[in-house]
Amino acid sequence: MRQRPLRPGSKSTGLSHSLPREGKILTPLLRQRPPLHRTGAFTLAIWSLVMLTSTAGTPAAVQPDYSPPPGAVNPQVTQANIAQTICRRGWTRSIRPPASYTDLLKRKQLRARHLPGKSVDYEEDHLIPLELGGHPTDPRNLWPQPWPQARLKDKWESGYNRAVCAGRVTLTIAQQRIKDPGTWR
Ligand SMILES: [Zn+2]
Repeated sequence: MRQRPLRPGSKSTGLSHSLPREGKILTPLLRQRPPLHRTGAFTLAIWSLVMLTSTAGTPAAVQPDYSPPPGAVNPQVTQANIAQTICRRGWTRSIRPPASYTDLLKRKQLRARHLPGKSVDYEEDHLIPLELGGHPTDPRNLWPQPWPQARLKDKWESGYNRAVCAGRVTLTIAQQRIKDPGTWR
């Protein structure tokens, strides 16, 4: 705020007298100020916002997100019915969502996760695979996974399916293990 020179004579007046007078002097001065958007302070504020966004916001926003989703189970599959579901030949084929669904979801998630490359570089993978009672369509169980990693994970998926169906491990334990990236990464 600019300092206004005191009016002649104001020095000699007491505080109680000078305060209301100061108010009267400032009011016309404020009215004369240019509109807010033309002031330097406003421009500076906008510029600071732009700089903040480009230095703090953008790098975090464009960082590719490869992390798996939380995972979701298929309520149709239970430990009690594995013989009729995941251990039955043709089970995954009978519940697999159409490619039109997973391809669209893959493209959406590739954009949202800022993942590089092309759609064909990724498998839209079920975190908990269908053969371990994973949810077929829930987006919380699907994400674009780079192919080399997806192929590696596939081996663990079929391995755990064999283990569950042979009674060597419970369905719940297998689901927990396959959800953990430490298992297949
Ligand atoms: Zn898979």
